[in-house]
Amino acid sequence: MNTQKSNSKLSKAKKYHFADFTESHYNVLLKIAKKNYIFEKFGTKSKVPHIILRHDVDFSVHRALALAKLEKKHNISSTYFFRLRSEFYNIFEKSILIKINEIMNLGHEVGLHFDLTFYNKKTQKNIIKNLNLEKKILSNLLNTKISVFSFHNPDIKNALSISDYRLSNMINVYSKKIQNSYYYISDSNGYWRYSRLFDLLKNNTENQIQILIHPVWWQKSIMSPRMRVRRCVEQRAKRTLETYDSILKSSKRNNIK
Ligand SMILES: [Zn+2]
Repeated sequence: MNTQKSNSKLSKAKKYHFADFTESHYNVLLKIAKKNYIFEKFGTKSKVPHIILRHDVDFSVHRALALAKLEKKHNISSTYFFRLRSEFYNIFEKSILIKINEIMNLGHEVGLHFDLTFYNKKTQKNIIKNLNLEKKILSNLLNTKISVFSFHNPDIKNALSISDYRLSNMINVYSKKIQNSYYYISDSNGYWRYSRLFDLLKNNTENQIQILIHPVWWQKSIMSPRMRVRRCVEQRAKRTLETYDSILKSSKRNNIK
């Protein structure tokens, strides 16, 4: 690689804090957070300085489980929001379902990550109908109560204008009530858009914080955001092919390459 190219890669890594998004740095963040805050769940009435930690699982349940285990080490419980209509994982797959159950067994809550763009009719009545439908499916599949939901890509299709605190008997994490009383920080797209979580926790100026962490952005080693997604996609493809190979092997068929 020529010097100019490698310099621009380095400056990008610095500008977008690539090194923030590793498991080891996540550990550091949890440690700092615990010094100044307690961790609460959605629906809390607590007035002491606290954090509600939430994960929208857009790409990888494997990464979600990795973070769930780290949080458990710190005795922190958070809420993992799963999609029924993801292009990147399938909650009905046995291996994925096992991982979601593991996350729940670590003491974390599960919420519904709802994709409004999937549905054509955007009337309140229709949104509620589909929220009810997805909630029921998720609840039956996991044999648990689903009492909270988050919109996937809320900037699209005006999801943020839906400001009710509860819909379909679930708390809406983007409701006006929550937005107004919590400082909100998110790692969307694999970088910090406004403030850096490390600085926010260290400065300790906010009393109530809602942190949105997408598990895919937090890997074992340092990578660019697209590489982190690519890694998950390639791992999934690899596992799918391994399934094919193992089926042929166990049924003693020729695996013709
Ligand atoms: Zn999402």
